[in-house]
Amino acid sequence: MDYLLIVAEHLTASQPPSPRNLKYAVLHLQAAAEVLLKARLQLEHWSLVFKDPALANRRKFEDGDFESCTTSSALTRLRQIANITIDEKSIKAIETLSKSRNALQHYGLKTSARAVESRAAQVLDFLITFVHDQLLPELPGTEVDKVIGDLDYAGEKLRTIRSFMDTRLKRLAGELRDVRHRTLKCRECDQWGIVVGDGNSSVSCHFCHVLWGPAETMLHSWVITEENWLGVEIDVCPDCDHQALVADYVRVAEAPEKRCTLCFFCGIKG
Ligand SMILES: [Zn+2]
Ligand SMILES: [Zn+2]
Repeated sequence: MDYLLIVAEHLTASQPPSPRNLKYAVLHLQAAAEVLLKARLQLEHWSLVFKDPALANRRKFEDGDFESCTTSSALTRLRQIANITIDEKSIKAIETLSKSRNALQHYGLKTSARAVESRAAQVLDFLITFVHDQLLPELPGTEVDKVIGDLDYAGEKLRTIRSFMDTRLKRLAGELRDVRHRTLKCRECDQWGIVVGDGNSSVSCHFCHVLWGPAETMLHSWVITEENWLGVEIDVCPDCDHQALVADYVRVAEAPEKRCTLCFFCGIKG
């Protein structure tokens, strides 16, 4: 819980959070996720926090002398063994955050601050609910009040972060009002912020400012980096003659529920 409180404080220390605040928020959030997920796993059975449960040893467990499982396998075990529902969006946010954490440790904060803030808020939100639903009911009465107080505090900070983000999203919605039919959801920050179809100009996310480069380059890296897009064909657009047309596959802000045809160069929509 202490990690969560530190995260909430770093994320709300200034607006926008400074790179230093974001760095500490990400490091503590990663630690919090690991500790809290494993605490729940341990309630299922102590051997489940071992990297390989088949080699689990009670004495080593009690001494804390063992290699424990990764956050990603803790998530899988919670879903498959403890039968806990964890939505895809939270899993994606936790995984993206682990990547930022590793990059951060080796290269410093290189991704957009807005993208990190947005993902961090998603993970914080998930963890607050997770503690409330999965850990609180198992705690002895004496500890419950303290944890509830901490959860309330973290929740209040999270609402502050959300209200900053909502203000930015509202402004963005106004800015992008006329291009919703060619606005994509950004993978970095998970917001509808990427406008394609502006010819030669470089594509970037209007929310987190991550740069994707010119349309055709952007489309190429978009297709190869997204698992769901493997095998998607890029055709020549009948309108602009650029090889930037994706048929029946793109989801846009205007109607996210259905896939449409879109030229990433000229923006015609079929
Ligand atoms: Zn973005
Ligand atoms: Zn076109």
